[in-house]
Amino acid sequence: MTTTDIGFDALGLSPALARATRDLGYKAPTPIQAASIPPALEGRDVLGTAATGSGKTAAFLLPILQRLGSGRRGTTRALILAPTRELAAQIEEAAQGLIRHTGLRVASVFGGVGMRPQERAFREGTDVIVATPGRLLDHLQHPYADLSKLEVLVLDEADRMLDMGFLPDIRRVLRQLPQDRQTLLFSATMPAPILELSRDLLRQPVRVGVERPSTPASGITQTVYPVAEDLKTPLLVHLLKQDSIGSVIVFTRTKHRANRLAEKLAKAGVSAERIHGNRSQSARTEALAGFKSGKYRVLVATDIAARGIDVEALGHVVNFDVPNVPEDYVHRVGRTARAGLTGEALTFFSPAEEGDLRAIERTVGRKIDRVTVPDFDYRAKPAEQFEVPLKDRIAEIRARKAEDRARAAAKAERRAQNA
Ligand code: AMP
Repeated sequence: MTTTDIGFDALGLSPALARATRDLGYKAPTPIQAASIPPALEGRDVLGTAATGSGKTAAFLLPILQRLGSGRRGTTRALILAPTRELAAQIEEAAQGLIRHTGLRVASVFGGVGMRPQERAFREGTDVIVATPGRLLDHLQHPYADLSKLEVLVLDEADRMLDMGFLPDIRRVLRQLPQDRQTLLFSATMPAPILELSRDLLRQPVRVGVERPSTPASGITQTVYPVAEDLKTPLLVHLLKQDSIGSVIVFTRTKHRANRLAEKLAKAGVSAERIHGNRSQSARTEALAGFKSGKYRVLVATDIAARGIDVEALGHVVNFDVPNVPEDYVHRVGRTARAGLTGEALTFFSPAEEGDLRAIERTVGRKIDRVTVPDFDYRAKPAEQFEVPLKDRIAEIRARKAEDRARAAAKAERRAQNA
C-alpha cells in the first residue's frame, strides 16, 4: 500500500486512536487518509474519490471515532451506509480494530441475519451503526430505531449503491436524519447521479481524490487470455496446476456461472467455494472465512458479492468472464496487489467478449498483453457445455415444482382418507 511520509501523529488524532493504528501495524497514513482526516476532524464535509484498497475505511472511521470519543454516549451518533453485507461487515471489523482503546461501540445492520440483535443495537444506542440501506429502512419503521441524534453520516462506495439501485432507499433514509450533521461521501468513481447526490447532501465539501479511479493500482500485472467459451474451465484448471498460482478469486458474470464453475472445479479436484447474492449470509461468511484460512484455494464470486471482500496478500485474480462495465474490471483487479504487494490479474475472453475487452482497454488507456498458454490444448473438445441452457433450467424448476405439488396432493388425499 502507498503511504505518505507524514506520521499519524501529525494528523491530530487522539492518543487512543493513534495507539490503535499502531496496534494494527499502520506506520503512516495512506494518501486518502492524509487528505481526508484533517478536514474531517475539523467537522468539514468530505467528497472522496477512493477505491477499495486505498485505506478509505480508516480515512472516514478515524475522524468519526475521534469526534464520538468526546461527548455523550448511549445514543447512535454516526451512521455508515454501505452497498453490501460484506462491505458493512468489513467496515464494522475495521471499526472494532480502531475503537479498542476508546470504549465506543459499533454494530452492523444488514439483511440475511436476524433482526433482534440489530434491534438491540438500536435500543442500546450503539455509537456507530454500519448498515445496508434496505435492512436499515426495515428498522426505521419502528420507534426503537432513533437516529434523531445523528451527528455524522458516511456513504461508502456510493457509485456501487447507485448501480445496485439503492438511491431511492438512501433518499428515504435521509429523510429520517437530522439536517444538521457532518456528511462524508466516498466513491470509486463519480458518475453524474453521485455528483448530484453529493450536491444535495454535502455542504461546501473538501474534495479529496488521490487515486485516478479508472486505473488499477500500479504493481498489478494485467494479462488477457483468448480462449473459446467452453474451454475456459479446462484453461483455468490447467493454470491452477502450476505452482506459481496460489489462492485466487475467480469472477464470473452470473450466479449460475459461479455455481457451475465451483462445481466443475470441485470435480477437477480443486477446492473451491462460491459467494454470490443468492447464497445465505452464513454460507457467504463460511465461504469467505474458508478462503481466508486456506481451506479453499479458489473463491468464485460475482461482482456484487465481491464488493468489500478484503483478503490480504492475494496474488491472483482471474476474470473468468470479461466484466461488462470497465469500472468493474478496475474494481475486481484492485482485489490483488493490496498493501503494496504485487499481483496478477488474468482475464479470459472468448470471441464474443472482444467488444467489452476493448472498452476496458480504452478505460485503462492501453492494450493489455495477450497470452497463449504453450502447453494447453486449445483444440480440445470440452466434455460438456459450461452453462445449463436456460430452457433446461426452467424445465427442471417446473418439474421440481410439479413433483412438490403431486407430493402435497397425495399427502392431502391420505389425510382425507384417514379422517
Ligand atoms: P480499505 O481501502 O479501507 O479497504 O483498506 C484496505 C486495507 O489497507 C485494509 O486491510 C486496511 O487494514 C489497510 N490499511 C488501511 N490504512 C492503512 C495504513 N495507513 N497503513 C497500512 N495499511 C492500511
